[in-house]
Amino acid sequence: MPIRKFPDPILRKKSEKIFSIDKDLIQFGYDMLETMQSAKGVGLAAPQVGKLLRMITIQIPENDPMIMINPYISNKEGSREVQEGCLSVPGFTGIIERSIKIDAEYLDVNQSKIKFTAQELLSQAIEHEIDHLNGIMYTDHLKSHEDLHKTGVTPDETHWHDVGYKIHISNDKSTKDDLSMCEVIEKKIELSKIKSDSSLDDASLEI
Ligand SMILES: [Zn+2]
Repeated sequence: MPIRKFPDPILRKKSEKIFSIDKDLIQFGYDMLETMQSAKGVGLAAPQVGKLLRMITIQIPENDPMIMINPYISNKEGSREVQEGCLSVPGFTGIIERSIKIDAEYLDVNQSKIKFTAQELLSQAIEHEIDHLNGIMYTDHLKSHEDLHKTGVTPDETHWHDVGYKIHISNDKSTKDDLSMCEVIEKKIELSKIKSDSSLDDASLEI
């Protein structure tokens, strides 16, 4: 299934609780697993493949893949800084805070209620995917846009730090050369205006 990318509006919507676990839903869960694995992701949430349902898939290295229906975090403990990325925001990672440990529960495809405690990458992935079910993206947890890093940056490439820039707006009476008559506005591009594939030129057109 194609993975929806930021700023697709579906990523900002809240997903519906699942009341009936039928054959089609289970098949959708396995399709999500396959999509996640072929994208080399650790987790995937249903809205990322276009369905506003409370279902996520997780696969932590050396663990069995999991399909979680109506996943829910009942307790969070502690806070730690982690590096995070998202299949819907390709090419970027950021440092954010996540819990050290969580208690969570979900229904599996056999309708059994599973309760468990998770730490490290597993708890991080579950917090990330449950956020997706509530229309929240990890980029919302960044303290500022400067915490977002472009991956695979080459020396010649414009680095994300360069998004802080100045705009010169001439008033009616000023000539092109008369910069002292210009109003100078410093503007930081808000994260919400940066599309993962847009250059700085594209972004400045939206202001
Ligand atoms: Zn994500």
